[in-house]
Amino acid sequence: MTACSAILAQCPCSGSDGMGLLVSVAVVAGLFALLQWTGSTLKKEGTSTMRKIGKIAIVVVLVIVVGVVVVMKKGGSADDADQPTTRPAASAKAGIPKLLDLGSVTCIPCKMMAPILEELKTQYAGKFEVEFIDVWKDPAPGRKYNISLIPTQIFFDASGKELWRHEGFISKEDILAKWKDLGVTFGPTVPARVPAFERLEPAKPDTRAKDQICYMCDGDISAKTLVAVKTDKGLVRLCSPHCYFIMYSALTEDKTGFEKKVSVTDWSTGKMVPATTAVYLYGLDAKTGRPWVKAFADEAAAPKQRQADGGSIIGFEVLQRKELSHRCGFCDRAVYPEDTALVKAGGVYTWGCCPHCALGVAVRTGKDIEVRQPDALTGEMIVVKTLNGSVASMEPKTAVAWFGMRPKPGGKWGSAGCFHQANFVNIENLKKWLQQRPYETGKQISVQQALAAKMKMTPPQISKACKIGECAPK
Ligand SMILES: [Zn+2]
Ligand SMILES: [Zn+2]
Repeated sequence: MTACSAILAQCPCSGSDGMGLLVSVAVVAGLFALLQWTGSTLKKEGTSTMRKIGKIAIVVVLVIVVGVVVVMKKGGSADDADQPTTRPAASAKAGIPKLLDLGSVTCIPCKMMAPILEELKTQYAGKFEVEFIDVWKDPAPGRKYNISLIPTQIFFDASGKELWRHEGFISKEDILAKWKDLGVTFGPTVPARVPAFERLEPAKPDTRAKDQICYMCDGDISAKTLVAVKTDKGLVRLCSPHCYFIMYSALTEDKTGFEKKVSVTDWSTGKMVPATTAVYLYGLDAKTGRPWVKAFADEAAAPKQRQADGGSIIGFEVLQRKELSHRCGFCDRAVYPEDTALVKAGGVYTWGCCPHCALGVAVRTGKDIEVRQPDALTGEMIVVKTLNGSVASMEPKTAVAWFGMRPKPGGKWGSAGCFHQANFVNIENLKKWLQQRPYETGKQISVQQALAAKMKMTPPQISKACKIGECAPK
């Protein structure tokens, strides 16, 4: 009953005209009569009968309330005979579509709408107008648009013609989806503002010897897993077979016979051996499910190690097939799913090798996507849904993106590469993560900004993204 009266109380039409007032009086009178009647029945009858009567009374009141809403709607249109019969056009400001929310600052669903309207106002500035009218303070628009409930949202096209209306709370995602259904699209939007934070000077200078740094991931090279690739420009050193396959998948040159240039480290002796003649012990980390790979020159040494570590013994070709079987849905790099974001694009799952690549799946596939990206520090899940190239929803709302950058020739700053990108559930986690990584430089951006940067890319730019033009040392 409270819910019904609340709806009634929220109806901006109630008491706003003669008919409404009459009906309201009738409702109060009806309720009063009901109470009188039930009260006297209680004296005469037993309590079980009373319960039945109570139920009947609720039904009767419900019927009255529903009736009132219908009567008021009818009454309203009859009274406003001098008003135009078609719904009035909104004052289309600059010839852009408009979302009009008629509500009040006090009703609960209206309050829930407020932050959504604010977000849309900022994010879609210049794309569509967002207007809120408090019909408790100013009941005229409620009559003008002939609304029955608050909040009511009315969608207008650029000419001011009403396209659709909705009563009650509606999520940001549903609003954006509705615009799309109505055939109104907006393209890339203004990035949501977030507190700016950047670190353009490393916390401490990177004094590691060049030959101790992995060409792909910038991580330390272990003497047990080093992979070396001979190129025209010198020797490329990688921290592991996995980083080698990432590099291989990012090459644009003709790769026929490329594996002949590659040597791996024999796990037992630390000597370099040709990658194609070695055997590999391939296992999965029990905790994370992430693969590990150990190379052996001697076929007899691998089974011995297997007794200790488990795993399977495989040749180079099988290893290559396994390593290349999962790819980034944006840049095509080889990935371990355990290291990546999971991306759902139109019912199909793929991966993003870094958070920016994950968002890039939206532009590469042209689909609305859902990205599940773990916080780089804590592993907490961040879920981003896109719609028409904009962020439709993000959980948690405090999530931020780190854009890892480094100085490029000519004094400009550019991406530091996929290994230096990360997302966090909040800025505090980003700062903690940076404390653990003194060499990282870049800036914090919003997830919307990261997406907008990707959405601007052209097909040729996408096909070149994250690729290594020629395999050359830095
Ligand atoms: Zn590496
Ligand atoms: Zn990628």
